[in-house]
Amino acid sequence: MLARGYREKPPVEGPPSGGDTRIWTIVLDRIAVERWDADAASWNGVVADHSEFSVNDYMPETGIELLNCPRCRITCPLEVTGHWGGPLTFTCPGGHTTIVEAHENPRLNWGPNLLARLILTEADPASWARTLLRRVTAWRDKEHEGRREPWYTGPDKRDARIAENTDLTTADLAQALHTAIGIQLPLRHAGRPLELLLVHATLALATPAIRHTDDGRALDAEIRALLDDIRTEWQRTAPTRVLVRDQLHAWRDEGGPEEWQAAWDRTLQLVEVRLGGYTMGQDGLFAEAAAALTTAIYIEAMTNSLPPSEVTAEQVIELAALHLDTREVPALWEARLRDLGHDPEDTADPVARLWQRLRIDHTSEPPLTPMHTGRFGPAVTDGIRTAIRSNYSFFPHSLEAA
Ligand SMILES: [Zn+2]
Repeated sequence: MLARGYREKPPVEGPPSGGDTRIWTIVLDRIAVERWDADAASWNGVVADHSEFSVNDYMPETGIELLNCPRCRITCPLEVTGHWGGPLTFTCPGGHTTIVEAHENPRLNWGPNLLARLILTEADPASWARTLLRRVTAWRDKEHEGRREPWYTGPDKRDARIAENTDLTTADLAQALHTAIGIQLPLRHAGRPLELLLVHATLALATPAIRHTDDGRALDAEIRALLDDIRTEWQRTAPTRVLVRDQLHAWRDEGGPEEWQAAWDRTLQLVEVRLGGYTMGQDGLFAEAAAALTTAIYIEAMTNSLPPSEVTAEQVIELAALHLDTREVPALWEARLRDLGHDPEDTADPVARLWQRLRIDHTSEPPLTPMHTGRFGPAVTDGIRTAIRSNYSFFPHSLEAA
């Protein structure tokens, strides 16, 4: 008997015409099957129970491998025989015969299910392309649904890597996928659901009898569209993956007046230790809080002829104008910047450029990902008030006195 853990979904299509009464004999060079790995599953149980592990420690529980003879491990060619709905029998070139009986639990009935898939593909090669096409569109629909979830920050980076690494300009998509995925067969190729689906599709599209059918061409086109969509989405959501720390340094590195640089240095000195590995998608507000604080320090330093390092929390709090409605604050700050000689519309001035970002009213701006929601009003007001009130308050000692 074969090792446990093989999986095959029941066929979506019914038997080929007249194909349910005969005994089929099919010789195949390779038969790709999914196998659930009990060792990986038990390891994942350990990971789930221990907080010292992270999500990166999980192992894929499902992999694809080529069906092989349990006695000699040969994978090709295998001669498959049986009738629709009945047990799967296969024989290796060494003459070893294996029988996989039906199982009353449909989830474990992989033998007859696999036989049905092989019969359908034998009778009509396009059948397997149609099945994979259904799975690809189902995956895409689920992914698109997920984009509306509050925790969504972009495509999974492993899926995105495959999409980015696949040459979509080539005529030979199977070869492009094979290279991008680095398919490991006949031994187990483990991976996420999309990766496994693409491994199946690669093998299907590498089979001329499948590729040169209308359904084969539709599968080819659908996979290209799917990977292109993942690429576009990955690039669209790129700003959410930037580390807050890197964003702050990028703003500072844009240059500007000496006092502006000194204001950034002061802000970074105050906040950097608290930034950790946060990304803009997780906490873009924190970046805007730091940007607003820098602008406040700069305005107060310039107005009062102080070095930025000597601006006090009280001065920043006064500029924050906590008594005003959130929407009244930007005009106040913009007037102060004008007084200091900055043209708020100047795109060549780093101070004005950051200001153009800080005066954006998030209420009217569609969020890049749902994680960005929960922010209302102008970024500058939200930012400076967060800086003042947050648990990671910027001027802890001075604030207590204020
Ligand atoms: Zn054998």
